[in-house]
Amino acid sequence: MKGKIIVLGSEGVLMVGRGNQMRVQSCPFQSMQRDYKVPNYNDIVREPVARPCGDWCPLFGEPDSTKSPDMYGEVKLDGGAHLSLCQTHYYFEHFTDERVGGEK
Ligand code: SF4
Repeated sequence: MKGKIIVLGSEGVLMVGRGNQMRVQSCPFQSMQRDYKVPNYNDIVREPVARPCGDWCPLFGEPDSTKSPDMYGEVKLDGGAHLSLCQTHYYFEHFTDERVGGEK
């Protein structure tokens, strides 16, 4: 599985390989508000939009490319990384961190 942290504004945002493309992963627990102008009306409604999973969140771990724990002990990740999130762990075989100073 491929993983990547891209930079959007001032935040690092998680992307995961799904099929043959990389997709931004949305947080199932948080949303942002966005103003939406209703077409043909002079009215603006505020609607929730999904917030990307990323390093703004205190439950978003830092990628560790040195080793990952598994049921057999610790395995060395060669070009990959382990990333812990709020309710799961990812073991990416290929991982890129585009943040300045981020681990590769
Ligand atoms: S780590 Fe969990 S709670 Fe935090 S942004 Fe990602 S999905 Fe949401």
